[in-house]
Amino acid sequence: MTEIIIFFISHWYLSLFVQTIFLHRYASHQMFTMSPIIEKCFFLLTILAQGTSFLKPSLYAILHNKHHKFADTDKDPHTPVKHSNYFTFMLETLKNYNDGAILLSKKNITSSKLPTWDKVEKVADTYSVRFLFLASYIIFYYYFAPSIWFFLLIPIHALMGPIHGFIVNWFGHKHGYRNFETTGDHSTNTLPIDLLMSGELYQNNHHKFPRKSNFAHRWFEIDFGYISMCILEKLQLIRILR
Ligand SMILES: [Zn+2]
Ligand SMILES: [Zn+2]
Repeated sequence: MTEIIIFFISHWYLSLFVQTIFLHRYASHQMFTMSPIIEKCFFLLTILAQGTSFLKPSLYAILHNKHHKFADTDKDPHTPVKHSNYFTFMLETLKNYNDGAILLSKKNITSSKLPTWDKVEKVADTYSVRFLFLASYIIFYYYFAPSIWFFLLIPIHALMGPIHGFIVNWFGHKHGYRNFETTGDHSTNTLPIDLLMSGELYQNNHHKFPRKSNFAHRWFEIDFGYISMCILEKLQLIRILR
């Protein structure tokens, strides 16, 4: 039981850490710099943390920047505003990500700004590697779950990345309070203190100042993602630019 709780919480926050720090703040917004070796360490950590649901950082960045540019319009790859239920929203998001992946492979889009590691990404982005991660989750639960009902948590491990994306994109554009009247988008700050998503739920603040590293704005808001960045900078692993 204890092992399952520790594994679940660790997987949740490790996957969230790579999504907010590496995919979002680094690959999409270039909020900090790091050496090529540290970047490769982040690649490996992202594959390990996202496992079954690994998403290429370059693809994430392309789609995420489209989200900022066309927020909550028809061209936004993951806007919840035209959907009344979670299911159609997730289906459309999945379709847009798949279309983006095909486009990325056909056009061979490369940019010095986008982090890529072709050899490793090609291996991580295969069904066999994804299946190996899924099998490892099942084996862990087989040994440590106190009852069969705990196996219901395995799909959450397998879909960790998309689940985090869903929480941020759905709730962060539908529910919560607004500090700023951003034109055109419906972004909100869902939680006053965002412990759940490490600051990613301050969508309204982030859409107002997309280049700012610290997503917190009001006195009570705490951006744990930004705090993680400050710790990484103290350890001389990254250099914050803005
Ligand atoms: Zn957003
Ligand atoms: Zn962003």
